[in-house]
Amino acid sequence: MNYSATKAMNNENFVKEFEARFKSALAKFRLINKKEKVIVAASGGKDSTVLLYLLKKFGFSTKALTINTHIPKFSDKNIENLRKFCSNNKIKLHEICFQKEFGTGLSSIVKKIKKKTPCTVCGALRRHLLNKYAEKLKADVLITGHNLDDEANGLLTALSIGNLKHAARAGLLMKSPGFVKKAKPLYFFSEDEIERYSRIKKFNVDYNWCPYSIGASRRFYAELGMEKAKKFNMVMNILKIMPKLKKHFKSGINTCRTCSFPSSNEKCQACTILEGIKT
Ligand code: SF4
Repeated sequence: MNYSATKAMNNENFVKEFEARFKSALAKFRLINKKEKVIVAASGGKDSTVLLYLLKKFGFSTKALTINTHIPKFSDKNIENLRKFCSNNKIKLHEICFQKEFGTGLSSIVKKIKKKTPCTVCGALRRHLLNKYAEKLKADVLITGHNLDDEANGLLTALSIGNLKHAARAGLLMKSPGFVKKAKPLYFFSEDEIERYSRIKKFNVDYNWCPYSIGASRRFYAELGMEKAKKFNMVMNILKIMPKLKKHFKSGINTCRTCSFPSSNEKCQACTILEGIKT
């Protein structure tokens, strides 16, 4: 994809190109089909709002699942925007929250788990709940809003700490035993393109960073100013060697002895964190 070409397009052509590319990614990589029950992991931010809008527009049976982490001055506003969007677009929204699931919000969990960053804790617990509820709601596929920048920033983080095993988890379609299939239809769209589409469509979303993102590696790499074309090339190069990486780092899957979800360790990351809160 030539990012300077899409940047130069007028809004009308940009929207046409964006939607055509979205449809083509779904078909080319066989991410979802119309018989499947699709659940979008939605936050109320631009990525998941664009996903919900496009999946609904192109006739997929779409529901939204959101996890409220209770981040002050962030979560409530985003969830309120998501509720309005889903109600206006007749999309069923399932709301799950940390308070009910874990007895408290992310802020107090983070205060107790000092060795892990807020994003590590947030990511592990949200993933855990998304997997759990995608299965409970009998979804065939869980759609996430990861975009090209997310993927590139994740790869940069993995490579910077020499953790190729982590890089081997990337990809736009993930089928792991014991988990609902996951797909990332925005994989080849940059953050800027998604924001532009969202602004043209006048979606009521908050474009600010989460307050906990300060110091997080994702934000650090996002603010480095690396050229989009270089990010795209890096992701494409990793995708080419992905089958070899996956084969090399294939690890035995155990079952977490606390929650029974698949885990590469005896206890999954989410249960380890939750145990840490109690002690
Ligand atoms: Fe969670 Fe970190 Fe994202 Fe904030 S920036 S929502 S803490 S993962």
